[in-house]
Amino acid sequence: MTLLDGISLSQTIKGELARQIEQRRVAGLKVPHLAAVLVGENGASLTYVGAKVKACEQVGFHSTLVRLPESISEMELLLEIQRLNDDPDIDGYIVQLPLPAHINDELILLAINPSKDVDGFHPENIGRMALGLPTYLPATPMGILTMLERYKVPTEGRHAVVVGRSHIVGLPMSILLQRNASPGNCTVTLTHSRTKNLAELCRSADILVAALGKPGFITADMVKEGAAVIDVGITRVDDASKKSGFRIAGDVDFDEVAPKCSFITPVPGGVGPMTIVSLLTNALNASIRNAEASVH
Ligand code: NDP
Repeated sequence: MTLLDGISLSQTIKGELARQIEQRRVAGLKVPHLAAVLVGENGASLTYVGAKVKACEQVGFHSTLVRLPESISEMELLLEIQRLNDDPDIDGYIVQLPLPAHINDELILLAINPSKDVDGFHPENIGRMALGLPTYLPATPMGILTMLERYKVPTEGRHAVVVGRSHIVGLPMSILLQRNASPGNCTVTLTHSRTKNLAELCRSADILVAALGKPGFITADMVKEGAAVIDVGITRVDDASKKSGFRIAGDVDFDEVAPKCSFITPVPGGVGPMTIVSLLTNALNASIRNAEASVH
């Protein structure tokens, strides 16, 4: 069994990014500038955004954290989005989800300029991804693809089962795994809460991607001998033995599933760090694209 180590791989990729940024800086080119919009005080969101800002600093990007109060109106947030769209120094930005209940997520995502949408959530970018056109891929599925590629996990002709169909993880993952590309060329089954015979489908998977947000849901009896298992789940579970009072749990029962696998991601330290480096890669590409656009 090979552990797909997202911490060590993400450090390698951060090193590659840092070298590219330094070369661009020495050549007098603009350093990428990524902004993150955070509305309210959600503890998990604060942690995620903090990790993204820290990663920007590690590779030499400029970063801006735009913190807005929970009480902000939809119109005020839209004005903030417009300001980021219009700011030529910002190459790309993300709006951390979830937003407060009184704000319509879709309206906000639609307002993001697709050329600055480094999360790849704008419908235009999802459409481009589905058609295999150049675009920003959503960071979590992109990170998983990078992991499959770098660890040489075979995908061609394999049966991939994705559990969860969210617009940010499961759905794009299923689209990317079926593409005529490498990694890709899988035969994909996309499953969700209404799927019948889920355990049986999972048992037929050569590659199993669990993205449902239910700790320990995937048990050993749901996994084929020799499968590659990717655990996307991140759930805070109460744990009195931890100083924080919680621990992070994945969707896979790692201890019982790992011995059956050819490859498996741990949680934490698997998909999470890969998501962040994919965001940085998208931001670098946005910066290159913006620099080229300003020359032509
Ligand atoms: P969502 O809650 O948006 O979607 C969950 C999906 O799982 C839905 O499609 C739902 O089905 C499906 N589902 C729920 N219960 C079952 C079940 N019993 N059987 C089969 N399918 C089920 O979650 P996200 O996609 O946003 O996130 C999933 C997990 O991944 C979470 O733990 C999240 O924290 C984590 N995550 C981790 C990231 C990382 O960087 N590692 C990044 C993003 C998310 P239905 O559509 O029918 O309701």
